[in-house]
Amino acid sequence: MSDILTTCPYCGVGCGIRANLTSQAADITGDSAHPANFGRLCVKGSALGQTLSAEGRLLQPQVNGEDCDWPTAITAVAGGLQQTIAEHGPGAVAMYLSGQLLTEDYYVANKLMKGFIGSAHVDTNSRLCMASTVAGHKRAFGADVVPGCYDDIEQARLFVLVGANMAWNHPVLFQRIQAVLQANPKAKLVIIDPRRSASCEAAQLHLKLRPGSDVLLFNGLLSFLAQQGKLDQRFIHLHTEGFADALASAQQQAATIGQVATGCDLPAEQVLQFYRWFADEPLSLTLFSQGVNQALDGTDKVNAIINCHLATGRIGKPGCGPFSLTGQPNAMGGREVGGLANQLAAHIDYSDHAQQALVGQFWQAPNLVSKPGYKAVELFDAIEQGEIKAVWIMATNPLVSMPQADKVKAALAKCPLVIVSDIYQHTDTLEVASIKLPALGWSEKDGTVTNSERRISRQRALCPPPGQAKADWQIICEVARAMGFVHGFNFNSAAEVFAEHAALSGYQNSGQRAFNISALARLSAEQYQQLTPIQWPVTDNKPQGTARLFVDGQFFTASGRAQFIAVQQRGFKQARPQTPLWLNSGRLRDQWHTMTRTGEVESLMQHRPEPFVSLHPSDAALYGISEGELVQLSNASGRLVLRADISANQRPGELFVPMHWSAQFASQARADVLFAADTDPISGQPALKLSQVALRRFTPKWQALLLTKQPLTSAQLALFSPHYLARVPLGNCQSYRLGLTGVLGPQQLLQQLQLTPTLCCTDSRHNTLTGYRAAAMDNNQLQWLLLAGSMLPQADQSWLNQQFNGPVSADNRRQLLSGRAGEAGPVDSSALICSCFNVRSKAICQAINKGADSTAKLGKQLNCGTNCGSCLPELNLLLRQQLSQANLL
Ligand code: SF4
Repeated sequence: MSDILTTCPYCGVGCGIRANLTSQAADITGDSAHPANFGRLCVKGSALGQTLSAEGRLLQPQVNGEDCDWPTAITAVAGGLQQTIAEHGPGAVAMYLSGQLLTEDYYVANKLMKGFIGSAHVDTNSRLCMASTVAGHKRAFGADVVPGCYDDIEQARLFVLVGANMAWNHPVLFQRIQAVLQANPKAKLVIIDPRRSASCEAAQLHLKLRPGSDVLLFNGLLSFLAQQGKLDQRFIHLHTEGFADALASAQQQAATIGQVATGCDLPAEQVLQFYRWFADEPLSLTLFSQGVNQALDGTDKVNAIINCHLATGRIGKPGCGPFSLTGQPNAMGGREVGGLANQLAAHIDYSDHAQQALVGQFWQAPNLVSKPGYKAVELFDAIEQGEIKAVWIMATNPLVSMPQADKVKAALAKCPLVIVSDIYQHTDTLEVASIKLPALGWSEKDGTVTNSERRISRQRALCPPPGQAKADWQIICEVARAMGFVHGFNFNSAAEVFAEHAALSGYQNSGQRAFNISALARLSAEQYQQLTPIQWPVTDNKPQGTARLFVDGQFFTASGRAQFIAVQQRGFKQARPQTPLWLNSGRLRDQWHTMTRTGEVESLMQHRPEPFVSLHPSDAALYGISEGELVQLSNASGRLVLRADISANQRPGELFVPMHWSAQFASQARADVLFAADTDPISGQPALKLSQVALRRFTPKWQALLLTKQPLTSAQLALFSPHYLARVPLGNCQSYRLGLTGVLGPQQLLQQLQLTPTLCCTDSRHNTLTGYRAAAMDNNQLQWLLLAGSMLPQADQSWLNQQFNGPVSADNRRQLLSGRAGEAGPVDSSALICSCFNVRSKAICQAINKGADSTAKLGKQLNCGTNCGSCLPELNLLLRQQLSQANLL
């Protein structure tokens, strides 16, 4: 079979992939011709071949818990929506979409709701990651556009990363930055982040600022640029408006380095260094992401950054500009079609009635909406209050990702009609669905996605649909037709949907709307199939696409000028005594979103197998917490139980938790239960980077490792809800790490789980209550194994995993309850650094101590870092730590 070119389904870098599928395996490599990655892939993209199994997939529609065929499911969805509309009006119906959907899926969903059903309550999980950037772009540029392109990276000489751990979250672009830094000794990387992330290993300067003080920092920069005569007066005069107000506002709070340093809690010399570098380097690129967006003043932060680029005229030129890094693979595609509650369609919002009417004409829409709908937090509040009575959730998991996730769970549990389209059988959100619809996954879908640099790429199907799964756009069209909306939804292919989407973008668009791909509306099916990556706008005047916008200094505002926005730093809250610590949340290198896909890949789970909280050593000492201990975080919204990760990367008084863990992987680790549903007043984006929590030790009576051939059932898992449980899928079994409180001992637990041992012993190293080991064999096949003790028992899980794969030999059977083969030394349970070659930190440190003093030498000896390169920042960190300990630096 020849190679198929497609696009990675994870982050907004949008890497091109070359896939070769045989009946045995999938060979996934980077597409060397794709302009986003030129052949590179990070560890997540490289492991895509391991995610193609049909195991765990939702393969058949279900209505009220019963499997059914598609006609039954479509009738149930259409009938349920019609009944809701008849009884309560169209405003009682909502959709909650996802940046994981393809543009074609998004387009028909938006069209159905806003033009035919007549409800504007269509929002998306992009509200959680990009909405503040959308609002900031619109305020400054008059349109939601990223001005630059990835090629600017190779031309830039100063990179400023704000609230973006690119080394883990946009790894391939980060590698492009690192290549520039290595090739140009004068090039510099500045990181602005309250915690020391993996990206800092490559940085010349890290501003470990007070959380939420970004507006002050960039207002200070604007003041400094003015004081130092570094403004581009010509650009300001010819192409912008509002400069005087923005500068006055900045100077009011941030006229001096001292004011900024005090407010941001930074050394003054670091602030000055950053400002000097920015002032002196015209080729400066400011890249920002969730650390900017997920805040109560996220939109102001975006505009504070843009103000500095407008003031220096560093926009629309090679090698400079403000650059929003999109979180999801197709958040940009969703923004193109208008899949946000405050947009109508195709970069047309509700403020321009003439433009709105165009959409109605184009769609021949019987029920065009006229005003914005509910944004994500409002939408789930309206469900909770009973105003919205039917919601269709596609390709997203709001029970994990929304703030106050427990409240969202309760709201959906009482919603009369919850329709969920997903590819997996078990997600937290599917558990509250009345209708479950099996959708196509990445390797089966066909359509387009748009990455952070406005580049539209094709996702192409590699495999046939599993079971009865269907494309989302097909399911939506079938429902629309069943509701009687026949004429607008007679699409036969993704290509036809794309053509209509492209045609709408150009409909009576003489340049007033930024999003225009009208030149792609005439693609034949074959041309659509062969479409190569291209950046919008794509018009008859620019059929090759557009790398960079605003090169002529013309913007999409009414005056054609960019707008400075006068912004002010908000006051900093004092932590409440009962919740004295500040909590931040974010992503990990090897996981994606709520782990539905990456969590089942054994190699990806090994990097950080358990949910954890990072805390500063001084806080650990204050609370009497040791490394690896279980701790509890809590506030009025909820509670988490996690492992302690003591790290000087944190600022004292501040904690970090990963946002990935769901109830499918851990009993008490859905980070978003601890975040209030407070939002930026302009964008409606929740502030998922700052919450207040209390911390204390969680002291289980005993801990255990339970390995089972069959995953525990929901009923079995429910037993652990007050306790600690974290699941780690291994190749042949599931590994559960347990921490139990109360009176339940290991033997009683096994009884309650209905697991009957065929082998057991008491572990004399522990007391008789908790020191217990047991296993069950069936026909010489290992079924499960429990190792319990007062602490989490050490075991060679790799060896144990092998024992679940076929008959167990007599020798191995004797060793089972010891948890390892023979009397080998201690098991290496140090952190997995290189997921590609399974290399742990202990082996790397040993190699460094024996003379491997560079990543090249480590790669030669251990292979680590030689495949995708995602672990290189961590290798550099270990090198720095080990060599400085040995005084070799
Ligand atoms: S950087 Fe990694 S996750 Fe992001 S698109 Fe590329 S391969 Fe996928």
